Amino acid sequence: MNCPDAYNGQSSRPTPPGPLSTDQLSSMCHWRRVRNTYNQCSHVYDLDDEMIRCDDLYCKFSSSHPSTCVPPSCTTTCWQYRQFPQQFNRFIDSVCPACTQQSQGR
Ligand SMILES: [Zn+2]
Ligand SMILES: [Zn+2]
Ligand SMILES: [Zn+2]
Repeated sequence: MNCPDAYNGQSSRPTPPGPLSTDQLSSMCHWRRVRNTYNQCSHVYDLDDEMIRCDDLYCKFSSSHPSTCVPPSCTTTCWQYRQFPQQFNRFIDSVCPACTQQSQGR
């Protein structure tokens, strides 16, 4: 007689840690670029790029990066460049500030 339960008793197996790379990358220093699109007048505004900083010890741009860590060793242990900018497109269901002012006649 086989007891099937003996084979299915592993429901509480620990979840393996997922691959870190993607998460890590997105949390590194990078520029954030926001573009506002106003639906009602279809004007597009690009906001100033915003520097997103991480606090990673091994990131050259981080505030936690030790000042004693300098090239050439730094170049082998630490991130030397920022990640690709992230582009955010925001769609705002109104007219843009300029058009708002115009319509107010001031
Ligand atoms: Zn960083
Ligand atoms: Zn370094
Ligand atoms: Zn407008």
